[in-house]
Amino acid sequence: MIPLAVHPNYINGEWVSGASFENRNPADTEDLVGLFVQGTAQDVLGAAEAAQAALPAWAALPAPARGDYLFKVAGLLEQKLESLAREMTREEGKTLPEARGEVRRSISVFRYFAGEGARMPGVLVPSERQRIHTFAVRRPIGVVGLITPWNFPSAIPAWKLAPALVCGNTVVLKPASAAPLSAWRVVEACHEAAIPKGVVNFVAGPGAELGSALLGAPPLKAVSFTGSCAVGHWVHAEASRRRLRVQLEMGGKNPAIVLADCDLELAVENVVNGAFASTGQKCTATSRAIVEEAVYDRFLEALVERTRKLKVGNGLEPGVDIGPVIDQAQLATDLDYIEIGRREAGPPLIGGNRLRGGAYDKGFFLEPTIFAGVKPEMTIAQEEIFGPVLALMRAADFDDALRLANATRFGLSASIQTTGLSRVFESLQRLEVGLVMVNLPSAGIEYQVPFGGTKDSSFGPKEQGPAALEFYSDYKTVYLRY
Ligand code: NAD
Repeated sequence: MIPLAVHPNYINGEWVSGASFENRNPADTEDLVGLFVQGTAQDVLGAAEAAQAALPAWAALPAPARGDYLFKVAGLLEQKLESLAREMTREEGKTLPEARGEVRRSISVFRYFAGEGARMPGVLVPSERQRIHTFAVRRPIGVVGLITPWNFPSAIPAWKLAPALVCGNTVVLKPASAAPLSAWRVVEACHEAAIPKGVVNFVAGPGAELGSALLGAPPLKAVSFTGSCAVGHWVHAEASRRRLRVQLEMGGKNPAIVLADCDLELAVENVVNGAFASTGQKCTATSRAIVEEAVYDRFLEALVERTRKLKVGNGLEPGVDIGPVIDQAQLATDLDYIEIGRREAGPPLIGGNRLRGGAYDKGFFLEPTIFAGVKPEMTIAQEEIFGPVLALMRAADFDDALRLANATRFGLSASIQTTGLSRVFESLQRLEVGLVMVNLPSAGIEYQVPFGGTKDSSFGPKEQGPAALEFYSDYKTVYLRY
């Protein structure tokens, strides 16, 4: 047997070896996807120092030239799209079409921010004084730490790296240990695109140890984190202590509001897609369906019927709708919440069990699960589960639906299913979220518009689209008398 290659860390343009950890396929734990070098606190420090050393030259490069490197990265990823997608399905479990979509997203993200290199919009306004010219240009912030989760293992690293780089920053990327390969591939493309040494650094390994080292690294000026609220709040506290610029994207408990005047068939599709695509493991996944009384019973029946048709299995197989849960720990969390749901709301309408037998025994497969009659004070209506578990809630009317939708500490995404224009506009005003999806699933975002939430879901400037530049750059304002 050919020994499996170890994927080294990437520090100062060098591939750095060391002791390794395993990355296994959650659909088939006999499938070892790769071995990854387990970085140390010392590696993180070395990476931050390399980033500091590379900063002056990278920052001095004209932004369009930095953009040219990003165009190259996009081209390199595109050449490998199919193999990258297959690897992603093997390491994360999402279905192959979903993985292809994500790799395409990463490519688009790199192209979009490559183009921003030639725009890099500043501020140009007339002075109120005679013969004074005033303008503001964007400057890099410096060395930026990027900490990413496993559920979008390529797109999230891409949507942090690309704007950071085009703005002239240098970076240290710390991917999630459950799915480091897709992020590693993005870094490999940066290396192949000949981005100068030290500009991009990658250190995989345990979050607590490497996270502490990164947050404590003297050269660090900013940190962008995506992951759970618990870790995000810790990152915020550490970053604030050192007055680092900080951006946090965290959990959600996203509602889908279904009003009586909706297109019922479309609403069912949107809720099923929002709740169960990617095994419910999206920060924007629908975890509460808030349904107006008048249509509750009809919606419930159609929802269960549609959910029954979903096929759970290995995401590499055609026809599979839902892949496995990421790992044993997340499966245990999902099953614990299902038990809580049974106690709080009674038996689920559908699902509720780990799938067993045949190929299911090799991985972490869970039935898509729906609880009905869920009340806002219940745990399953309040806490992020991050699995294929949906809570159905009854709303007396539109106002009650909005009240229920806002009755959590989270505020990432909300979808509303209605044909009523006034209700759409009213909900835009009143929903306490960062993303509103009208007659669409609560998930499914694009790269060229701002992304992020409110309340406990997010902190700091938004990611993606033009908003990303606000986090990754600073203004320098000039007053010039001539
Ligand atoms: P997580 O918080 O466990 O880990 C995220 C990253 O932080 C990983 O790289 C991990 O190694 C690292 N980490 C762990 N402990 C750390 C510490 N003490 N200091 C610094 N870094 C540390 O999250 P996860 O399980 O990888 O991802 C799932 C979570 O991510 C869910 O809550 C989901 O909602 C959230 N998420 C949010 C968004 C968004 O944009 N809002 C997108 C995707 C995922």
